[in-house]
Amino acid sequence: MQKIQNFINGKYVDPMKGQYIDNVEPGTGKVFAQIPNSSQEDLDNAVAAAKDAFPIWSTMSVDKRSRILHKLADLIEDHLDDLALMESRDNGKPLWLAKAVDIPRASSNFRFYASAIVNFSSEAQVSEGFMVNYTRRAPIGIVGCISPWNLPLYLFSWKIAPALAMGNCVVAKPSELTPMTAHLLGNLANEAGMPAGVLNILHGEGKEIGQAIVEHEATKAISFTGGTATGKVVGATASQQFKKVSLELGGKNPNIVFADCDLEEAVKTSVKSSFTNQGEICLCGSRILIEDAIYEEFKKRFIEETKKLKVGDPMEAGSNMGALVSEEHLIKVDSYVKLAKEEGGAILHGGIRLEKEGFYYEPTIIEGLDENCRTNQEEIFGPVVTLNRFSNEKEAIRVANSTRYGLSCTIWTTNLKRAHRVSHAVQSGIIWVNCWLLRDLRTPFGGMKDSGIGREGGNEALRFFSEPQNVCIKL
Ligand code: NAP
Repeated sequence: MQKIQNFINGKYVDPMKGQYIDNVEPGTGKVFAQIPNSSQEDLDNAVAAAKDAFPIWSTMSVDKRSRILHKLADLIEDHLDDLALMESRDNGKPLWLAKAVDIPRASSNFRFYASAIVNFSSEAQVSEGFMVNYTRRAPIGIVGCISPWNLPLYLFSWKIAPALAMGNCVVAKPSELTPMTAHLLGNLANEAGMPAGVLNILHGEGKEIGQAIVEHEATKAISFTGGTATGKVVGATASQQFKKVSLELGGKNPNIVFADCDLEEAVKTSVKSSFTNQGEICLCGSRILIEDAIYEEFKKRFIEETKKLKVGDPMEAGSNMGALVSEEHLIKVDSYVKLAKEEGGAILHGGIRLEKEGFYYEPTIIEGLDENCRTNQEEIFGPVVTLNRFSNEKEAIRVANSTRYGLSCTIWTTNLKRAHRVSHAVQSGIIWVNCWLLRDLRTPFGGMKDSGIGREGGNEALRFFSEPQNVCIKL
């Protein structure tokens, strides 16, 4: 069985206390690797390495840093097959999905920020004949990056790429459930020519080593993606030391279908936005709001299309959906389906665990729930959607905004004015009109309300990972 190590100062090293955690393969339900259960000593070593590397990395020419990050992007592409296989075994997602989306996107993240940093410029304000102000944007120092299990390398790289591009040194922790692709990244960083100590990767439990990264006096900024409850702890801890903090948290995203939509397209894409990656994408639409006039027709077609989805072995090309990430998560998802029944919901499809080894759950459609019930208010983060009726635009907006979350929203309409009107009225950081999951990496990414604070993406992330200083010169 494979036993992975931490990546500190450019080397793979055992955890100082010699403790490991089992890593279970969701597709089989069996342990397939062991990962370090890191401690404060491991973190202190990572921080010491990052401190030594900072003067080298932060003063390296932008051009050279950019070339190293481009090379890393190339190497991820070269290792697409190995990385995708590891991602799929680790997470339970279909191999084809890891190959088509997760790993290519991880490469794009490095490539994007390798280019973005070369084009990044700071601001200047000229008050003619009086003064000139300019803003210097320096790297912060050592930053902590903590990511979740649903899109392992994709989200890990989404944080560390801008942090590194800006000239910071990084101490990063992937989720203990999906550490394998982050583990492979260490070797690729070395091969790309990244100096030792610039990128350090620690594995272990969030409550222990994740919390220690946030608490460490040397980490001056924390970029966190994960659940809202954890984000609250991370935000509170970081603020005690006045650290910069970016929180990308949970969602309960509305998918609003107006009667004037292109119904075929709305149904097809709604099946994807509900069940892609087993519904384990923070941007999945989990509450489908459908205008009365087309409710029955949408429902019929949506069920028909969902029934065609094959849940099965992530390694098989024909599996549309793989396994949920863990037994614990499957039990949580199933408990929400039971709750939905108690709350008066009718299960139109799914609601059952597959009888096979591993953590497989049928895509599940529920109707007849009150908008304020727990099933419609709390994040389930699995292959479960609710169908809900509305009778007019005002009601759709009210229901869309009725949760504590505000991450993303999808709107289906062919009425241009309505598309803009509803987009502006919905409290979501990301809005898709007649599409889902399209991303231009230059755009700000993040949520409103309890879905987080700060924005990632484009120059927002470069600004986050830098310390602005205003210099004023009197003329
Ligand atoms: P999670 O339990 O909050 O964990 C996220 C990360 O934080 C993991 O690496 C975890 O380590 C670590 N962690 C746990 N406790 C910590 C602490 N006290 N201090 C520091 N780090 C700690 O979330 P998850 O279950 O992995 O991911 C699912 C959640 O992420 C969902 O709510 C989903 O909506 C959200 N998400 C949001 C976005 C977005 O962009 N807004 C994107 C993807 C996912 P362990 O794994 O070892 O516990």
